[in-house]
Amino acid sequence: MTIRTRFAPSPTGFLHVGSARTALYSWLYARRMKGTFILRIEDTDLERSTKEAVDAILEAMQWLELDWDEGPFFQTQHFDRYRVVANQLLESGQAYRCYCSKERLEKLREGQIANKEKPRYDGHCRDLKTVKQEPFVIRFRNPQTGKVEIDDAVRGRVVIENSELDDLIIVRTDGVPTYNFTVVVDDWDMKVTHVIRGDDHLNNTPRQINILKALGAELPIYAHIPMILGSDGKRLSKREGAISVQQYRDEGILPEALLNYLVRLGWSHGDQEIFSREELIQYFDIHDINKAPSAFNPEKLLWLNQHYLKMGESSRLTKHLQWHIEQLGINTSRGPALEEVFLALRERVKTLREMAEKSAVFYQDLKSIDEEVHAKHLSKDAIDHLQKCRLVFKDVSEWKAPFIHAAIEKTAEELGIKLGVLAQPLRVAVTGGTVSPPIDITLQLIGKDQVLERLGRLRKEG
Ligand code: GLU
Repeated sequence: MTIRTRFAPSPTGFLHVGSARTALYSWLYARRMKGTFILRIEDTDLERSTKEAVDAILEAMQWLELDWDEGPFFQTQHFDRYRVVANQLLESGQAYRCYCSKERLEKLREGQIANKEKPRYDGHCRDLKTVKQEPFVIRFRNPQTGKVEIDDAVRGRVVIENSELDDLIIVRTDGVPTYNFTVVVDDWDMKVTHVIRGDDHLNNTPRQINILKALGAELPIYAHIPMILGSDGKRLSKREGAISVQQYRDEGILPEALLNYLVRLGWSHGDQEIFSREELIQYFDIHDINKAPSAFNPEKLLWLNQHYLKMGESSRLTKHLQWHIEQLGINTSRGPALEEVFLALRERVKTLREMAEKSAVFYQDLKSIDEEVHAKHLSKDAIDHLQKCRLVFKDVSEWKAPFIHAAIEKTAEELGIKLGVLAQPLRVAVTGGTVSPPIDITLQLIGKDQVLERLGRLRKEG
């Protein structure tokens, strides 16, 4: 049997990290089993679905490199099909028209609440024999006896009595099909073998199973994943800071760090913390997903991010850096190759955004130096030393770190001062700040012309 999984987001906002983890688990399982991963956009809620949200979801999936084999399918393009299946259920008597007015249903509900009963439809139209010329919804005729048994890959056995369920609406008065119905039709049509989704959908599952059974469809295996909690033990929310994939990207997290972080929230393989994509595909199994919810830990995400910044393939990571550089409006057409800047900074930052900010000094003109920093590091003596250094630099024909280093050493020696006494004013003079990669590398990246220019300017200003 070919495994077919799907990720079925509703496009009502950005891709939440919890949904991203669901997508990741579905994707991993399909890859692990050499199956098919389907992307389905559940956009039947016409009021809340937006094109921006669809674009944001697709963009986030691409950024995470969770590639899909089929789709994206849009449920709004399947309305004809849902109509056909709804009619089929009507004709076979497994669904019926319900003419109950809003007022009647509201009254029913109020009465049930007053009697401390669970609000549910009472089956008023279930046995109507006539077809009326009035607005109607279509309800699924849920079995009234027996039970639904789910062998959930994460939760284990879950049993729900049919007497707990009522006859749910599958098509509204305006002809728009409802969520539980469209999911069933699509999972059936798309031959989905494994439904991997958040456990907020567990309540829907017995209803969906009953409809699938009525259609004579084969049942998929279900895996309901517990939610991600914030550090306060409540559902992860904006209180914790970023909750969408895009926000993490914008803050300078790498997709591999976010994926590695998310996969471990709810799944483990021994004590291993860091996994390559290949390892994840090799080890991942839905049966190993934890039942208990897991708590989000931003510190660990940053730790992973740093790891990938240090260890990842530089040409690949430089592309991500390039994106951040563009966001900051930094023009890199003049100046060092960005990959060299990446290599110089990779061990000195926690995020790509921080790296992009620190890269500016290699591409942009030096802004005025902070007065306090200037006073502390650029005394008259220091400026004199730097002019000497500038003269020595002029003669460096190959502007590479080792030669630059030698030139600084030579200057210090000639001036009879320690290297450190020269290096820090030099750093301040060319970068405007007190922290940068090693001075010779910094100078190499800034480029000879710029270094001479910045040191020369100092004399005039000083
Ligand atoms: N569209 C649903 C959601 O975004 C998911 C439905 C499903 O996975 O079955 O919550």
